[in-house]
Order: sequence, then C-alpha cells, then structure tokens
Amino acid sequence: MTNRTFAIIKPDAVKNNNSGKIIDHILNSGYEILSARLTRMTLAQAEGFYAVHVGRPFFEELTRFMSSGSCWVLVLGKDNAVEEWRKTIGATNPVDADEGTIRKLYATSLSENAVHGSDSDKNAAIEIGFFFSDAELIACQ
Ligand code: ATP
Ligand code: MG
Repeated sequence: MTNRTFAIIKPDAVKNNNSGKIIDHILNSGYEILSARLTRMTLAQAEGFYAVHVGRPFFEELTRFMSSGSCWVLVLGKDNAVEEWRKTIGATNPVDADEGTIRKLYATSLSENAVHGSDSDKNAAIEIGFFFSDAELIACQ
C-alpha cells in the first residue's frame, strides 16, 4: 500500500552541498516527493520535533545542531514508505550503515548524520503535521 513518511535533509548535508545528490537518490529510489520546503528550525521547534528524546544526554547537542542551519523537510510517498526510507537511509551511526545508504554516503558522524526518517506510521503522521498542512501535500499523479 502506498503510504507516507517524513524526511529531513539535515543541516550538515545542506552545508556540505549534498542536498541535490540526496534528492536525486530519493527520486532514483522510487519515492514520490509529495511536498518539500527549505526551512530553518528555531531551537524551540527542534526541541518540539525531538520531544521524544527529552532527557537523553545528546538532546541539547541534537537540538542545537538541528537549529544550526537550513534543512529540507520532505513528505515522501511509496509502498511501505516508513520501513523503506529507514532502509534507504541506513543505520543511525554512519559507521554501522550499509554500503550505498544515504548515511553511509553523506553522514559525517553519529550526531551529524545527513538525514532523518520517521520510525513508525504513527510518528510519520505526527511529524508531517508538524511541518505541513494537508493542502500542501501535492500528489504528482
Ligand atoms: P532520526 O530520528 O534523526 O532519523 P534515528 O531514528 O536513526 O535518527 P534516534 O535514536 O531517533 O535515531 O536519534 C535521533 C538523532 O539523535 C540521531 O539521528 C542522531 O543524530 C542523534 N543521536 C542519537 N543517538 C546519539 C548519541 N548517542 N550521541 C549523539 N547524537 C545522537
Ligand atoms: Mg528517530
């Protein structure tokens, strides 16, 4: 069944000029981009987005990094989009990521790991709603 996931091209990848290559990778892997926007999160927005990690030792580093520069927020459509996108991006730590995954190709460290992917359909819907209204989700066909 075609469903949706939420993706971010994180500030490290944007700063390193990898946005275009990652968008190519997304399109060449069979995802439909249903919406996309370049944005810069405030610290408060990053804290809200990653609220699930409040209290973890890396929370401050994570939210400071996510609000440190521009990022692309995207809604991707594909059969089993959530699971597929997690496979496409690879393990959280790039040293553990499989060859050919986006994190293996473009992440520089565990904290600056190029892309985000939702971890469940429920969280995908919440994360999409954090950045996009229904009217902004554009089906290409
Ligand atoms: P994301 O949610 O960004 O797609 P993930 O689901 O693979 O990543 P999470 O466990 O949700 O991993 O962690 C969120 C983000 O927090 C990671 O992508 C990474 O950037 C950062 N992070 C996670 N664990 C650590 C850690 N031990 N030290 C530093 N940063 C970390
Ligand atoms: Mg996560």
